[in-house]
Amino acid sequence: MHAGVILLVEDEQAVQEVARLYLEKDGFRVVSAVDGEEALEQVRSANPDLVILDIMLPKKDGWTVCREIRRHLSVPIIMLSAKGEEYDRVLGLELGADDYVTKPFSPRELVARVKAVLRRSSAAGTNSTEPALRYPGLTVDTVAHLVEVEGRAVSLTPKEFELLAFLAARPRRVFSREQLLAAVWGYEYPGDTRTVDTHIKRLREKLRGTGRSYLKTVWGLGYKFEV
Ligand code: CA
Repeated sequence: MHAGVILLVEDEQAVQEVARLYLEKDGFRVVSAVDGEEALEQVRSANPDLVILDIMLPKKDGWTVCREIRRHLSVPIIMLSAKGEEYDRVLGLELGADDYVTKPFSPRELVARVKAVLRRSSAAGTNSTEPALRYPGLTVDTVAHLVEVEGRAVSLTPKEFELLAFLAARPRRVFSREQLLAAVWGYEYPGDTRTVDTHIKRLREKLRGTGRSYLKTVWGLGYKFEV
């Protein structure tokens, strides 16, 4: 019996070792990765219950890894930021991080945060092994990349799918156009926020068969998913 599988992504060996020691003492099984690419491989192969993700990593940084994980999975993520780096809460929220811990951290504090995030995520019913988001009249399957409206498959472009999946995984939360652009298209995308409006409009047309509107405009702020 173990408390869960934690993927620990950290290139500093000393931090990796102390975190592993305390997590294992508390009954967690720990798998590790030392760079961003290995992190993404381990997310697929180890199917962790939670990811602890350092920001400064070789090959791909923690922000990029966080965004790539969120395209497919709702596994909880705790970001680690080094002393002196300003943790960007807004960016963390946009990319779907659940919490963050600043280094140097107390290992007990880290374990406490891990448990708190796991409790919250199981209370919210999110689970990395449950890829489909089900709402009345609408199913969004983030593994098979399928959307069904009233049981019928609907064809979406990749970006329409990612935008819908991002919002549907975070119901009732309002996101600005800038946040959606960053989360779905990425910071390197040169387009403007009207891209988001265009995609929302097409998604609404494609989901209309349900007679429900899932994608609500929040005037002056942005959009939210609500049934
Ligand atoms: Ca690092």
